[in-house]
This record gives sequence, C-alpha cells and structure tokens, in this order.
Amino acid sequence: MLTGPDVLLVTGGSRGIGAAIVRKAARDGYAVGFSYVRNGDAAARLVAELDQAGHRAHAVQGDVADPDFAARFFDAAEAALGPATALVNNAGITGRIGRFRDADPAMLRSTLDTNVLGTMYAAQEAIRRWEAAGIPGRMVNISSIASTLGAPGEYVHYAATKAAVEAFTIGLAKEVAPAGIRVAAVAPGTAYTDIHEAAGEPNRPARVVSRVPMGRIAEPEEIANAVLWLLSAEASYVTGAVLRVSGGL
Ligand code: NAD
Repeated sequence: MLTGPDVLLVTGGSRGIGAAIVRKAARDGYAVGFSYVRNGDAAARLVAELDQAGHRAHAVQGDVADPDFAARFFDAAEAALGPATALVNNAGITGRIGRFRDADPAMLRSTLDTNVLGTMYAAQEAIRRWEAAGIPGRMVNISSIASTLGAPGEYVHYAATKAAVEAFTIGLAKEVAPAGIRVAAVAPGTAYTDIHEAAGEPNRPARVVSRVPMGRIAEPEEIANAVLWLLSAEASYVTGAVLRVSGGL
C-alpha cells in the first residue's frame, strides 16, 4: 500500500505540452519529475517557478532514445521526490516537414527511436518498478491525430510512429490491467508549441487551422487537462483508451 505523495514523471517536460502537463500536475498536488534534453535553463526556470509556488519538482537531463536513460531518470527523480506513481511519455519529435520520398534515414531513425523506443523504455521501467512494489501506477502516452490522419505531405513517418504508440498503449494496458495499472493515450490535434518550428514550419498552425471543425488551434493546457483527467481517480475504469483532443478532427 502506497502511503507517500503522488509522484508523476513526465518526459520532455521543459516546454510545450510537457510543461503544461508539469504545471497542471503540480497544481493538482503531484510532486513532478520531468526530463529535458537540451535546454537546462528552461528546465531550471520551471523548477524554480514551481518551487516558489510551494510545489515539489525535479528536472533530469537526458535523451529518451538512450536505452539507459529511463532507469537514470527514475532513480534521480525518485531519490528527490519518492516512488513514481504515474508516468507521461510526452517527449516526441516530428522530424523535418516534407514528403516521405525525401525523408533521410537518419531522420527516420531518430523519429522512431524517440517516439516509439523512447516511450517503450520509460514504460518498461515504470511497469517493472510498479509491479515489483505493488503500485497501481497510471501511464499516459502522448500520440497524435496524425496516427489516424496520416499527415500526408508533412510527416507520414511521424504519423506511423504515433500509430505504434497507440498499438503499444492498447496492448500494454491489457497486459498490466491485472496488476491494477492503467495505461492510456492522448491524441492531440495541432497545438501552439515549438514543435512546428523544429519541423521547419513555425506558422504551420495558421496553415492547418481551417481543417479543424472547431475553427481554432489547441492551447497546450487543453491537452494537459485531458492527460491529468486520465491520470486521476475519475478515470478509474479507463484503460487502453486513446482520447482524441483535437477540436473535432
Ligand atoms: P515541443 O517540441 O515543444 O516539446 C517536445 C519536448 O520533448 C521538448 O521538451 C523536447 O526537448 C523533448 N524531446 C524531444 N526529443 C527528446 C528526446 N530524444 N529525449 C528527451 N526529450 C526529448 O513539442 P510539443 O508540441 O510540446 O510535443 C509534445 C508531444 O505532443 C509530442 O509527443 C508530440 O508528438 C505531441 N503532439 C504535439 C502536437 C502539436 O501540434 N504541438 C500535436 C500532436 C501531438
């Protein structure tokens, strides 16, 4: 029986949707450990912001595509905050926007390594620890509506990695349900973050907004709200689900 605080680990938590999840989780009472890959200043600023607001937070540097990182992330965050009880696999990249025929092997490899293997490594670490300690953990994997729309002309390789994340979510949820562990995914539509600039088209949201039935782009906080609901006791009978948060797309 777990008696300590609820501790959430978030990969790629220093900006964008990850940072919105970290902030909302802290407000909801979680101690939050998050990873960042490059921007140590942004990570330190977020930890300081949360500290000042009376929350507990801890940042760990590392690349989710490194098979050794997950154990290091959990060890460092748990030493600072206590045993993890929840995990959000948020870190993800699209690779360069463009047609698939022009995608180079190094970009395909890094997108697969980050989005698919990165999610699997952290998920495996969490499941091993939760099953060993009898913790009824909860996990949310961040997918994308690209998994079902395909992202033609933009990043079909990325769409394929997110379809893999969703299949992984469904299978893992069934495998660990008897241990009292829940696993779900959130599939966001387009949200205002730096991911579009990293893809080579900072103004992509303005280009694609006309496709969205609700007529607007998501704020990262709207994605975070869905993630925190899935992690919460209110979603106690929800596992293996993929929740689209996409304004109707
Ligand atoms: P972002 O680029 O602003 O943030 C991504 C975060 O992941 C960053 O903190 C980055 O440092 C981290 N990251 C990237 N590669 C990493 C690696 N190898 N190891 C560790 N951390 C790494 O993007 P975002 O829009 O906030 O994306 C968050 C998630 O949401 C991603 O999985 C993305 O695919 C998904 N998503 C985003 C959108 C959107 O329109 N923004 C839509 C659908 C899905």
